[in-house]
Amino acid sequence: MTALLDIENLSKHFPGGVRAVDGISFHIAPGETLALVGESGCGKSTTSRLALRLLEPTTGSIRFNGEDLRTLSPAALRRRRRDMQIVFQDPYASLNPRMTIGEIIAEPLRVHGLAPTRAAMQARVAELLDRVGLPPDAAARYPRQFSGGQRQRIGIARAIGPNPSLVVADEPVSALDVSLQGQVVNLLQDLQEQLGLSYLFVAHDLAVVRHIAHRVAVMYLGVIVETAPADRLFAAPHHPYTQALLSAAPEPEPGAVRNRIILQGEIPSPRAIPPGCRFHTRCPLAQDICRAQTPPNQQVAPGHTAACHFAAPYPIPTESRR
Ligand code: SF4
Repeated sequence: MTALLDIENLSKHFPGGVRAVDGISFHIAPGETLALVGESGCGKSTTSRLALRLLEPTTGSIRFNGEDLRTLSPAALRRRRRDMQIVFQDPYASLNPRMTIGEIIAEPLRVHGLAPTRAAMQARVAELLDRVGLPPDAAARYPRQFSGGQRQRIGIARAIGPNPSLVVADEPVSALDVSLQGQVVNLLQDLQEQLGLSYLFVAHDLAVVRHIAHRVAVMYLGVIVETAPADRLFAAPHHPYTQALLSAAPEPEPGAVRNRIILQGEIPSPRAIPPGCRFHTRCPLAQDICRAQTPPNQQVAPGHTAACHFAAPYPIPTESRR
């Protein structure tokens, strides 16, 4: 099946030697959720903007429905944008406080000419509010009259209005209380089933994506270090960084035995990427080869790759390392 979104060797370098995204490849199938997970500063938000061509890549290709977005004319790209929408992290900052909810949701419909009459627009806004679990009278009110969770529902209604096939959700629940996070994730899941949406779901926390992701790509310092079907990634993470992220999460089940890897220090600057394996400055399993040679992206099972010289399902015991 043709991927809906197919990204090859994508990079984004900024002036001053900042390699924010440094050669990543991934794809998303129709109806699929790919979670892109990593600490802040790993390049995941830059990637989400590159995928929508809100930022111009330094290298690489972005194919959407088989069409290379980098070669589209500005007019063709504007038309294509109808099909690719974004939900932002901060539901407080992303909604214009001077517009009513109805105006906010109607704006992309108007831009793309999707509701020819006032009555059609009102009906569509009411339908979208209903889809995200808000009452019809919300249309006449202002963002300040809604809670954080409700505002994120409004952001979602606005994003799905133009009937996109891909929604980029950039940390859509990070600004919300834990009690609300599950509700918004469930809403996104329901909408995916009803509308056949694909999601690129960006998060810094693996626990958040556990139930929504079909596949997970773990990002570290501008590169993807591990990609796997979600069940496999949680059951048998092969990269020490993924293992460390999972170690930081609460135990999945009472009594589960887990080798813990505790991450030391901060993520290095994308201005000064360590040589060899870029994770070696924080990896408790690092050896000489890690400091000298970039690890290849090895396939450890069908659909499961890990970029580590010692990729293994669990932390390697010290005595077996070379
Ligand atoms: Fe750690 Fe070496 Fe693997 Fe990098 S290649 S993750 S430093 S063991």
